[in-house]
Amino acid sequence: MKIPFHKAFIGDEEINAAAEVIRSGWLTMGEKTFAFEKMFSSYTGAPESIAVNSCTAALHLALKAACIGPGDEVIIPAMTFIATWEIIKYFDAVPVLCDVDKDSFLIDVSEIEKKITPKTRAIIPVHYGGEPCDMDGIMELARIHKLAVIEDAAHAFPSVYKERMIGTIGDITCFSFYATKTVTTGEGGMITTGNGEFADRVKRLRLHGITKDAWNRYSDKGSWEYDVSEPGYKYNITDIASAIGIEQLKKCDSMNLMRREIAGKYNSAFSKTELLETWKVRDEAGCSWHLYPLRLNTDAVKVSRNEFINELKSAGIGTSVHYIPMYRFSAFSNSGYELSDFPVCEDMYSREVSLPIWPGMSDAEIEYVIDTVTENLEKNRK
Ligand SMILES: *Cc1c(COP(=O)(O)O)cnc(C)c1O
Repeated sequence: MKIPFHKAFIGDEEINAAAEVIRSGWLTMGEKTFAFEKMFSSYTGAPESIAVNSCTAALHLALKAACIGPGDEVIIPAMTFIATWEIIKYFDAVPVLCDVDKDSFLIDVSEIEKKITPKTRAIIPVHYGGEPCDMDGIMELARIHKLAVIEDAAHAFPSVYKERMIGTIGDITCFSFYATKTVTTGEGGMITTGNGEFADRVKRLRLHGITKDAWNRYSDKGSWEYDVSEPGYKYNITDIASAIGIEQLKKCDSMNLMRREIAGKYNSAFSKTELLETWKVRDEAGCSWHLYPLRLNTDAVKVSRNEFINELKSAGIGTSVHYIPMYRFSAFSNSGYELSDFPVCEDMYSREVSLPIWPGMSDAEIEYVIDTVTENLEKNRK
């Protein structure tokens, strides 16, 4: 059996919607994008949704809206994708890395608190795997220290924190529709905010800083005339991507349910063995289950994480590691960080492996993953 680490859940609906846009003769941002944004707002309850061409672009514009500047400190978890870090560097600002909690893999309020200095301007919580961070604690800390909260929700659609959708809590939330994410448009992202000023600025900045609805300046509704308020970026999404996004949103509840069912099957199978540790999620129904991370119990098995990945690979199962903690990259060689500053990330990095979890996995495929993992670990029992 061959089971890829990820496979997008795409049907004729997405294909036809994209084809319709291509046939229409208007291929870039336009009516489909505004319909996609409206649908995203009505799904999440976020007052404003602004579509862009990636979550990295969304995070960049979010920091811009929050007026981050050179020397400002921004607190992030070390256990995240590099995009969370690089967008801070764009501003010559200073990313301040935190270790994560050993059970949830999320940034911890007490760790954030230790890193706050007079230069701290923002916190970027990352909802690892789609499990929401302690947003009550983070928002309270941000209020006390007057910090912006920009959520990296690349994994967290749809995720729910204490009955509130992710996208409605922080000052700005950034989602990803990259090919491997829970909802995809190939490439794409969404910014949500309740702050009208942030929304207006982000809408201008995503398209060269052009004021007004310049996207329709080529149509009979628009005008050739426009102003530019400040240098912007080329971060707009296309209507082709938005048309795919609309179809994905229609399916997002059923896709989420399929992920939850796979996680449930994995959890009940893997909770029986002490050869590995499963991920502890606070509220299984509120998690998007973008990832299914587990950790080998390396005291009980002979196999290393890397050997285990190779064994699954030769059995036809694709896996991944989330993440290589960023301070290990060569870009950090002068950062002054030591591996011992991050004991949880280090332990996790040595033992973590992410299993396939994608809507459309058949029962036979799920069982094959469970059996292969279990048999392999039993075979390697110390
Ligand atoms: C995927 C990802 C991003 C970047 O998303 P893109 O849409 O590819 O730019 C940012 N943060 C995290 C945690 C991610 O997993």
